[in-house]
Amino acid sequence: MALIKNYKIATIGSHSALQILKGAQDEGFSTIAICLKGRERPYKLFNVADEIVTIKDYNELFKVQDKLIKKKAIFIPHASLIAYLGVEKVEGFRVPYFGNKNILRFESDRRIERKWLKNAGLKLPRIFEDPKDIDRAVIVKFHGAKGGKGYFLAKNERDFKQKIKSHPKGEDYVIQEYIVGVPMFIHYFYSPLNNELEIMGFDIRYESNVDSLGRVSARDQMALPKIDPSYVIVGNIPVVIRESFLPRIIDMGERVIKESRKITKNGLWGPFCLEAILTPNEEIRVFEISARIVAGTNPYVEGSPYTALKYNEPMSTGRRIAREIKIAIKKGKLGKVLG
Ligand code: ATP
Repeated sequence: MALIKNYKIATIGSHSALQILKGAQDEGFSTIAICLKGRERPYKLFNVADEIVTIKDYNELFKVQDKLIKKKAIFIPHASLIAYLGVEKVEGFRVPYFGNKNILRFESDRRIERKWLKNAGLKLPRIFEDPKDIDRAVIVKFHGAKGGKGYFLAKNERDFKQKIKSHPKGEDYVIQEYIVGVPMFIHYFYSPLNNELEIMGFDIRYESNVDSLGRVSARDQMALPKIDPSYVIVGNIPVVIRESFLPRIIDMGERVIKESRKITKNGLWGPFCLEAILTPNEEIRVFEISARIVAGTNPYVEGSPYTALKYNEPMSTGRRIAREIKIAIKKGKLGKVLG
């Protein structure tokens, strides 16, 4: 325990930081929230940060990195870091980092990501390279489109050409088969210390406005000024999956880990999420992987029904990360969880 006191857990104050910092405190670490000026309130209010480091913008992270290294901070990445800094800058960040940085490239390049998931035997939505080939409902996704704003659905080439007109030329996009079903987000944790995969939980995202369109009748949708669906996330809803899906889901997670070792040394470890659509034919179609903690784990600060089965104490994904670091420190294997 004495050794653990030497380390601090740090993360950026947004996304899943409340859970990460609380989990770290529960495991006996002292914590640092790195906050943009004006965003400190939640971390003070909920008392999860033993220290707050304020920065003016995300690039200032590089200015405080020596300070963080001195404090023996271990940095927990989440989506905000990658979204605001980009992969290259994150790779250059020198503070000890939980997880494998090499995996970021694979996760953020849709083509490489696709190859990885395909080779892991997952069923993915079809990609249409040429709009001429569109023969079913498709979703057109723009790169870097924060929160899925501007995505549109199309049913054929003509429809696509009409709708793409309102987007600036040269904007990068992908035309993906639109899967009708229930979007479900699967939260995993893989431990490189005991080589075990855990199911941490599931969530359903609540996205604006697509999840509220059902409140407007079809008649009113037709009558009102044009309403286009958008996929801006506003929250996460906890869900328990039908139990008969579990064997496949465990298998999928294990294959993703196995395959990740073929693309980069030591592969993926820590929390990750498969973003899937479950169809009426009981197919699990995966449209994306997040190789880090996802905000969908936030409802489970006190643990999920699945972590309750495995642990006799509240175990959030944030706490599970801190537990992994703690075990690694105790075993003298910290290098195994830092990347
Ligand atoms: P990113 O992490 O890159 O911002 P994201 O996790 O928000 O992406 P997107 O791929 O941008 O996920 O998709 C946004 C939303 O669009 C999903 O949550 C889901 O509701 C819907 N969606 C995405 N792909 C499909 C698909 N192939 N079929 C049906 N719905 C989809």
